[in-house]
Amino acid sequence: MSNLPALVTYMHDVIPIQSISSSPVSSGESVQRSLMHGVVLSDAMRRPMQDLRISVTDRCNLRCTYCMPREIFDQNHAFLPRSELLTLEEIVRVAASFVRLGVRKIRLTGGEPLMRRGIEQLVEKLSALRTNTGDAVDIAMTSNGVLLEARAQALKNAGLSRITVSLDALDEAIFQRMSDSHASVNSVLAGIAAAQRAGLPVKINMVVKRGVNDGEIMRMAEYFRNTGIVLRFVEYMDVGSTNGWVMDEVVPAREIVEMISARYPLVPLVASCTGEVASRWAYADGAGEIGQIASVTQVFCHECTRIRLSTDGKLYTCLFAEQSNADLRALLRGGRSDEDIGHAIENCWQNRTDRYSEIRNEVARLPRNKIEMSYIGG
Ligand code: SF4
Repeated sequence: MSNLPALVTYMHDVIPIQSISSSPVSSGESVQRSLMHGVVLSDAMRRPMQDLRISVTDRCNLRCTYCMPREIFDQNHAFLPRSELLTLEEIVRVAASFVRLGVRKIRLTGGEPLMRRGIEQLVEKLSALRTNTGDAVDIAMTSNGVLLEARAQALKNAGLSRITVSLDALDEAIFQRMSDSHASVNSVLAGIAAAQRAGLPVKINMVVKRGVNDGEIMRMAEYFRNTGIVLRFVEYMDVGSTNGWVMDEVVPAREIVEMISARYPLVPLVASCTGEVASRWAYADGAGEIGQIASVTQVFCHECTRIRLSTDGKLYTCLFAEQSNADLRALLRGGRSDEDIGHAIENCWQNRTDRYSEIRNEVARLPRNKIEMSYIGG
């Protein structure tokens, strides 16, 4: 570990935060009435629309085997041409419509969002949006961290609220095997350290695949203890249609918590907000916090508040969607009004019934053509 850069170290506050309750409206209520009462749209299962994930590019500098396997995303793969991507101005206009309809958090994803030219300007424009109650919007980003070191301060200056960095191993060989790349662990750790120096709260997402990087769990836990960084363990998922997912390769989150707790006792924390994907645990000795995203073994569809905007402006209401629910780029480029865009979003969300993870066992063996995560954002 001596070849790894030290992270900025500070004690992290692990005091449970009061859960914020929401008051979903029925799908039949109008947007105007919703806005008057300061609440948000609800879907057909009474889940509020709160989080927008925007994929700003379908390109990535890594080829993680569970996301963009190189056999599929090789030099012959047809990425979207520039003309089909939403422009930065189009993204901001759509995002403003979402915020008017109750969205409070926007996460920029990809692909790798730092590969999108002008991402800092986009963050700056998005961070200027205000909710109906005059509050700032939480602007987050998920990145693989490889390009982060030189960009962290500018992103913070532009108004980025926080960042989640994907890192699946500290061991160089395992990291390169999982990311199917020659990128170095040190480049990611340098990016994480730069984000901390810039004052960005950092979370780490570690996708755990049995037989590949499960041997890194304790090493990762120990490395990020006492750093103020929340390490979150993500169950390996059947995202997209190309990663060859099998259940045997999933390490249940419960198993990970038991493994860590045997060495460093953990105590459960309450969710910090409604719709939080990770369950939270604190080290009993005050060394910080970990999280688990157990979307396979402890599903959370019943409180899923996320909607996704693809790189080319299509709406998806589930990570495991097979088709888009609306084409906002067509509306934008067809000269339609903000009101029309708002109605399209409203219709899309109010008709939403997605709960893929709850019915995975019933449908996983059926032929499906799920949209790739690199296109709609993780
Ligand atoms: S499977 Fe779909 S509905 Fe369920 S939590 Fe994931 S994104 Fe949300």
